[in-house]
Amino acid sequence: MNSKSTSSLGSNGSGPSKEGTPVRYNDVSTHVSRDIKLDYGNVLLVPGKMTSVTSRKLVNLICRMDFERTDDSYYEGIPIMAANMDGVGSFDMADALIRHRIFTCLAKMHSEENLVKFFSGDPQRRNYCAVTVGLRHQDREKFRHVHQRSGPIKFACLDVANGHTQRFVSFLEDFRSEFPDVVIIAGNVVTPEQTEILAKAGADLVKVGIGGGSVCETRIKTGVGYPQFSAVLECGQAAREAGARIVADGGCTCPGDVAKALAAGSSFVMLGGMFAGHKEGGGRIITRRFNTGEINGEGKPLLKESRFVEFYGMSSQIANDKHFDGLQPWKTSEGREVLLPFKPSIDETVQDLLGGLRSTCTYLGAENLIDLPQQAKFVQCHDTHNRVFEDSPISDHSISSMLI
Ligand code: 5GP
Repeated sequence: MNSKSTSSLGSNGSGPSKEGTPVRYNDVSTHVSRDIKLDYGNVLLVPGKMTSVTSRKLVNLICRMDFERTDDSYYEGIPIMAANMDGVGSFDMADALIRHRIFTCLAKMHSEENLVKFFSGDPQRRNYCAVTVGLRHQDREKFRHVHQRSGPIKFACLDVANGHTQRFVSFLEDFRSEFPDVVIIAGNVVTPEQTEILAKAGADLVKVGIGGGSVCETRIKTGVGYPQFSAVLECGQAAREAGARIVADGGCTCPGDVAKALAAGSSFVMLGGMFAGHKEGGGRIITRRFNTGEINGEGKPLLKESRFVEFYGMSSQIANDKHFDGLQPWKTSEGREVLLPFKPSIDETVQDLLGGLRSTCTYLGAENLIDLPQQAKFVQCHDTHNRVFEDSPISDHSISSMLI
């Protein structure tokens, strides 16, 4: 292919146009990475040799993390974060997770008044919650006011869909110089190069993950992404070399995936879908009737009611309608909307998750999560687990397929 060839066709291909950008063709083959890149579903952790950690009770999941860029700042808790999404990053969720010493990135759309009220309450909220800040001028203003009015905020999450832009890097640099004492979580990126750039621009924690989320459609709509397990391995290494850490964001479907992310060197794991569907998230609860497949006393189909919670991506049509006056004409929705079975309390989910992590540590011979990466060995595999009963008649999947 001629690398210099150009076209002057208009954007609709109908003829020459002065407005159209000339097309330049590159030799595409030179840009294809042929290394195999992996997702959580392509690997398993290998048990350690004769480990001395004999009981899950002995495993300590509380980590202390010091942040090199921010004097006297540290985190002490479980290295898991609730995502700053509607239905997950709510005040009630944050309070419920604080009881388990788990962190929350609050959703972006909380008002200044509500944030001030929240941070003026339980002092632990400062240690376990980040205020989320977008690129918009009013987001930065809101953070500034909350920081002044409620007392210093310890954690800020600078969150954009694409952290690979000059605008985001400049924004991060500015934010760092205005707030030298705030621990900054910034992203999202998926390459070691951009991780290093964000770390040098002032991020304490670089958020890693594009396109792998449970309600994300970026890979479908744009073709952009990077297999998450490899992104975590590669970006984690780059962050450590630059004196920072990473948060593995998106794509965890079960406690085992969280264990893999931590074992691969991520300092935190951010969860959206796994924490969604609970009462504490504050999502809209919808009651639907479903056909049980049985017949009642009158010979008619036996119907039952079930409660579901609405959950959606923050770039979905519904999120754009709620927060940004609808989808702008130059955009497409990059998130989907789903209904999840309603779960009354996050506590059960947390127990399942933390129980799984303790068990990972005993299998690998790690007394705590800090030791986990040193003990970890992964094996690449085609299938991680046995799916034979996944379509059993009482599974959530088959109930939702009977909805009427
Ligand atoms: P999950 O834990 O649900 O797999 O992934 C959560 C992450 O998905 C979030 O923290 C965020 O980075 C990402 N995310 C949330 N909403 C959207 C969306 O609408 N589009 C895309 N591309 N990513 C999203």
